[in-house]
Amino acid sequence: MVEIADGITAIDVHVHLSDSAARSASPDQASWGQISSYFGRDRDVVSIDAMADQYRSKNMMAVIMNSTNESITGVKGVPNDYIAEVVAKHPDVFIGFGIVDPWQGKIAELEMRRCKEELGLAGIGELNPARQRFAPNDPHFYPLWRAASELGLPVLFHGGFAGAGAGTPGGMGVKLRFSNPMLLDDLAADFPELRIICAHPSWPWSSEALAVALHKSNVYLDLSGWAPKYLPDEVRHYANSRIQNKVLFGTDWPLLDLDRFLEEFEQLNFKPEVREKILVGNARRLFGEV
Ligand SMILES: [Zn+2]
Repeated sequence: MVEIADGITAIDVHVHLSDSAARSASPDQASWGQISSYFGRDRDVVSIDAMADQYRSKNMMAVIMNSTNESITGVKGVPNDYIAEVVAKHPDVFIGFGIVDPWQGKIAELEMRRCKEELGLAGIGELNPARQRFAPNDPHFYPLWRAASELGLPVLFHGGFAGAGAGTPGGMGVKLRFSNPMLLDDLAADFPELRIICAHPSWPWSSEALAVALHKSNVYLDLSGWAPKYLPDEVRHYANSRIQNKVLFGTDWPLLDLDRFLEEFEQLNFKPEVREKILVGNARRLFGEV
């Protein structure tokens, strides 16, 4: 059960841990230099308490999410138990998502159940089909989505271009096509009860992501990972109009700085009621059902 206090002004639905425990266990560790140089910004080590204060001081909440690449690189990431501990320490600020490696089949399915039933986590993510090298609409993985749907856990998938591997020979094996949001359209159709968050503006498939969100009431988009001032016009236009109930504020912190994101977000000049929905209303509705 996710508790969102009345005074909360925004929910950042896409936040990664950057404390020393998460950093040293991260599947990104081996490619940290590559990711930092691609984004032109090194990720600082930030303690959990400092991170909580950053959001608390603004009356905001943050969905913290885990990642793993275990079957590809052998790197597990921090255990989901750690995410649960962080949430337990700052329940007024954090909502936790656990992670699974889809290639682990039954183990992954059981872990999803454990995330909900034992750890009290509120969703699954960030799954990264490009980096984890799976097609979300492959029936092989359907038992997972069935389980998430039954458990009432929203699932967040990375959409579009991947910073991971960018600019290296072979992109470090990352295949972009797995992160085409159109693959999520199949999931949304086959699991109408499953709430899906397609993360990021999904370039070069932003139009596809908008179409899926417009067509499937169980698909949401988050705006994370792109500086708002560079948001494609089409995304901005749809967010401010036809899919205003489906768009979620997210930064992808620490890749993007929270203050900078908020400052640029204000300059997008969304209609006041749309601004409120994107910052908090839509997420409140999404998590209110968890
Ligand atoms: Zn992502």
